[in-house]
Amino acid sequence: MFEKNDEKELEKWGDLQTKCENCTNCNLCHTRTHVVFGEGNLQSKIFFIGEAPGENEDLQARPFVGKSGILLDNMLKSIGLSRSKNVYIANIIKCRPPNNRNPTNFEQEECISWLKFQLRFINPKIIVTLGRIPSKIIISNKIKISEDHGKFFTKIIDKRDFLIMPMLHPSAILRNIYRKVVMEKDFLLLNHKMNELNIWF
Ligand code: URA
Repeated sequence: MFEKNDEKELEKWGDLQTKCENCTNCNLCHTRTHVVFGEGNLQSKIFFIGEAPGENEDLQARPFVGKSGILLDNMLKSIGLSRSKNVYIANIIKCRPPNNRNPTNFEQEECISWLKFQLRFINPKIIVTLGRIPSKIIISNKIKISEDHGKFFTKIIDKRDFLIMPMLHPSAILRNIYRKVVMEKDFLLLNHKMNELNIWF
C-alpha cells in the first residue's frame, strides 16, 4: 500500500488524469466541452459514484454542480462531511452524453477503466453509488434502487473487497421532493457505518 503523499504516486494520478482528459476512446470526445474526471480528497475513505456529467458539469469540468450538486453537498453536510475534505466524487462516464441521453454499453465499457484506476488508487472503505445505473454497473444488474437503497453490499472489484451502498440519485429527489427524507435516512445509515468502521476525519 502506498502513501498518497508519495510524490511518485501523485505523479501517476496526475498522468492518468491528463490521459483521461485527452481520451478519444468513444464518440463522446467530439461533443464534450470538458472531461469530468472527478474531485475530492485522494485520501478519502468514502467514494461517491454518479452516472455521467450533465450540462453544468460539462461546462465546469466538475462532478455534481448545479442543483443536484447543491443537494448532495447539503446531504454531506448533514453528517458533517464536505466534498473537498472528506469524500471523492466521480462518475462512471467521464464525458457528457449529448442531451443527457443514457450512456451506451460501448461508452460504459470504454470508460469504466478510468473509474477502476481511481478506486484502486483511493482504496475507499465505503463506495456510495448514486442512482440506478451506477448501482447496477458497480454492484449487480439485479439491484432495484427503490428497494435496495440504504443497504450495504460487498463486491470484489479488481480483486479487492469493497463495501457498497446504493442511494437514490440527487436528481430523483429534485423530481420528487418527498423522497428527500429517504436520502436523509440513507445518509444517517452511512454515518452509522462510518462510526462502526471507525472512519474518522
Ligand atoms: N449526475 C451525475 O450522475 N453526475 C454528475 O456529475 C451530475 C449529475
